[in-house]
Amino acid sequence: MMASTSGPGGGGSSWVYAPAPESRQTGRLRESYGMFIDGEFRGPGAAGAMKSVNPATEEVLAEVAVAGPAEVDAAVAAARRAYQEVWGPMPGRERAKYLYRVARILQERSRELAVVETLDNGKPIRESRDVDVPLAAAHWFYYAGWADKLAYAGYGRDPRPLGVAGQVIPWNFPLLMAAWKLAPALAAGNTCVLKPAETTPLTALVLAEICQQAELPPGVVNVLPGAGDVGAAVVAHPGVDKVAFTGSTEVGRQIAAMVAGTRKRLTLELGGKAANVVFDDAPIDQAVEGIVNGIFFNQGHVCCAGSRLLVQESVHDELLDRLRRRLATLRLGDPLDKNTDIGAINSAAQLDRIRELTRVGEAEGATRWSVPCELPDRGFWFPPTVFTGVSQAHRIAREEIFGPVLSVLTFRTPVEAVEKANNTPYGLSAGVWTEKGSRMLWMAQRLRAGVVWANTFNRFDPTSPFGGYRESGFGREGGRHGLEPYLAAEQR
Ligand code: NDP
Repeated sequence: MMASTSGPGGGGSSWVYAPAPESRQTGRLRESYGMFIDGEFRGPGAAGAMKSVNPATEEVLAEVAVAGPAEVDAAVAAARRAYQEVWGPMPGRERAKYLYRVARILQERSRELAVVETLDNGKPIRESRDVDVPLAAAHWFYYAGWADKLAYAGYGRDPRPLGVAGQVIPWNFPLLMAAWKLAPALAAGNTCVLKPAETTPLTALVLAEICQQAELPPGVVNVLPGAGDVGAAVVAHPGVDKVAFTGSTEVGRQIAAMVAGTRKRLTLELGGKAANVVFDDAPIDQAVEGIVNGIFFNQGHVCCAGSRLLVQESVHDELLDRLRRRLATLRLGDPLDKNTDIGAINSAAQLDRIRELTRVGEAEGATRWSVPCELPDRGFWFPPTVFTGVSQAHRIAREEIFGPVLSVLTFRTPVEAVEKANNTPYGLSAGVWTEKGSRMLWMAQRLRAGVVWANTFNRFDPTSPFGGYRESGFGREGGRHGLEPYLAAEQR
């Protein structure tokens, strides 16, 4: 039901939707969750338990057992046993059946998972329901298909798994990142010890339950909740053969230092500061939608977010005018409401970081505009914000803000656009908006980014490799390329 009335604090007329909240009960949250080791859930040990909080309300959702050194040892030992005795020797066609089973159960429990993800992370249910959960299931389906075809993946006639994979993931796409890590590793015949982010452990633990439901042999997947020290213990454990990490460049550096000098293989998927380049011939309304999707999807908590908008000078004023009008229509609020576009910031610490960098942006002389909307009293919130008059030297043009904040720069010529787009220590993604196919290809050849989107942004597909250059890390996830980090090189 819709009614026409004045906008949410924004003035002018806009549409107000009746609330359409998804039921919290669908999430079937439990009061407490154990860690998942050797096919079983274990209650808190010496390291105790932590609380997982709903960032939209600051209410405690559940208590979660935290792994200590003893549990890290137990999980790695279980993974080793499962690798040697069951999963490693198992024919690929048999492994595939388990992966397909997990994929199907993910689909069957998709509504529950979407609600849990939204409660734990703060992202709108529209996104967890339509993006996170279906894409996670799609990754499991996709890599299930590879498990019996590894000999045809282009990595030798008889590629072998590496052994035990230690995997550390962030809080921005908890279930999806677990799929990106687990599915290719398992398809290739490795076993896994996964450390979810401290603020978002719940969907990884529901996934562990799904592994039980799929009768995955004990020890093949282990999930160890906890803070950074648990991640560090997994990475440093001598029983781990392969380390895969997604998160900040700073922690990525620490992990690279820890792994250096060992025989462990490493892939790092780190930060980004992507340029979204709009030429004067671009279809402007489509470009506006792409800019919104590029930086305000998932509150901007996206490593490949289009956080630097490069606009050709001649269309700057018109584009910014339309963008502001479009942003004023976004709905910020209850993430469980199906009409919500912008949810909560994942944690108080992340909110502080966004606030600090936006203060710096103002102090350095850029012009700030935030959507005039009311923020809820409780929880962690930040309004969609656009900085104009940004120069390349500004910190908001260089550092990953990881929030709903867009920095706008201008250019005059394609050469200048390339120079500015590449003027970053990162190299994860970029976007180009133009009607001209030749210009698109010319740009794509020159942009130093792992992914270049043309007239779209933030599109993901399990068949397509994803990963960065330079300070955005190395290694590819997704597609046939995503198998390579989990297969033994010497067999090629
Ligand atoms: P981190 O890089 O700290 O977290 C990623 C994961 O690594 C989490 O599971 C974290 O645990 C774990 N971790 C932390 N320290 C270590 C360590 N020394 N060894 C092994 N694992 C570790 O990101 P934050 O959550 O702290 O976010 C900080 C900033 O990083 C954000 O503001 C954002 O700019 C950027 N970021 C970028 C991401 C990306 O995909 N590019 C993803 C997440 C953050 P725990 O959760 O307990 O800290």
